[in-house]
Amino acid sequence: MAGKLTLVVGARPNFMKAAPLMEAIAAGKRFEARLVHTGQHFDANMSQVFFEQLGLSEPHVYLNIHGGNPAEQVGRVILELEKEFNANRPDMVVVFGDVNATLAAAVTANKMELPLAHVEAGLRSFDRSMPEEHNRIVTDMLADLLFTPSPDGDENLLREGVAPERILRVGNIMVDSLQRFRPAAEALAAWEGLGLAPGAYGLITLHRPSNVDDPEVLRGLVEALVEIQKQIPLFFPVHPRTREQLRSSQLLAALENAGVQVAEPVGYLQFLSLMTRARFVLTDSGGIQEETTMLGIPCLTARANTERPITISQGTNRLVGNQPEGILQGFAEMLAAKGQLGQPELWDGKTAERIESILADKLL
Ligand code: UDP
Repeated sequence: MAGKLTLVVGARPNFMKAAPLMEAIAAGKRFEARLVHTGQHFDANMSQVFFEQLGLSEPHVYLNIHGGNPAEQVGRVILELEKEFNANRPDMVVVFGDVNATLAAAVTANKMELPLAHVEAGLRSFDRSMPEEHNRIVTDMLADLLFTPSPDGDENLLREGVAPERILRVGNIMVDSLQRFRPAAEALAAWEGLGLAPGAYGLITLHRPSNVDDPEVLRGLVEALVEIQKQIPLFFPVHPRTREQLRSSQLLAALENAGVQVAEPVGYLQFLSLMTRARFVLTDSGGIQEETTMLGIPCLTARANTERPITISQGTNRLVGNQPEGILQGFAEMLAAKGQLGQPELWDGKTAERIESILADKLL
């Protein structure tokens, strides 16, 4: 009899991690997998487009839970997931990354005494003001199998007292999607349709609460972008959370007036395509720090810390903070620096296969 897995996803950064695992599970023919989408991200361009482009099958269950405050969201997901896990009891629940859906599924699995696996375990920013840091810590403490992307993840977990046999270094599952879809993304040449010259534009994403929720911080970020736009054209697909804040603090117009191309979030293939030819990326995203490292594209991270230090030590990332002076200094240093291609160990496109094999060894 096949083992039963339930994978829970909720937000944009989960989809490119779940897709390769769903595929490896299908190829292995050893498990039946159910995919549950909590609905945390629900706009077509934050969710549906990823299912289409990544070849991810429609979720078996869509909980449609979004909006409200985070505690309410987590609470509602727990209530609904309990029903789902009761109706279709899995042998293991699998969660990804650090979003609220990850935390909610981890707590539900724990309360129902269901084994839990965490993909992308062990990452730590050591910044307890980040909601994601809490989600990571709680999920890791509840997980039975902790699939880590890099040695720092193992070290963090060991330091926190996690039993070594539960820590399994498998590499970075986002890289599986990146490698698989890179040829199609390059063929798409998304820069062309936007009037951007290859190697001569900057790509921007911002959505961390610490950057976009405080109007003063956001104003400083916009100031830096306006300054950089004077030297190199910028394309900025804006996360819904950020758009709301930009609009309410009248900063959207400042960006547009300066010539920054402000757009809706773009699909995975479009974004990957744009990354491959960018002169640099300025971001506060977690995943994009990793993707730029793999692509050898300089990354300026508008944060004071990162839970992905390997992208600095073995990649293209530099922390520039969220104040205009630091960002502009980082930008100038980046322009003067020589490029570097990063390939941390086990970031090889085979992470999903490794996870599937380990799950088979442990569960079947
Ligand atoms: N991404 C995308 N379209 C965009 C911006 C980002 O497809 O307009 C992709 C990006 O390539 C990466 C993922 O979304 O694979 C990162 O998600 P996000 O930045 O929302 O989350 P984080 O990684 O910070 O948790």
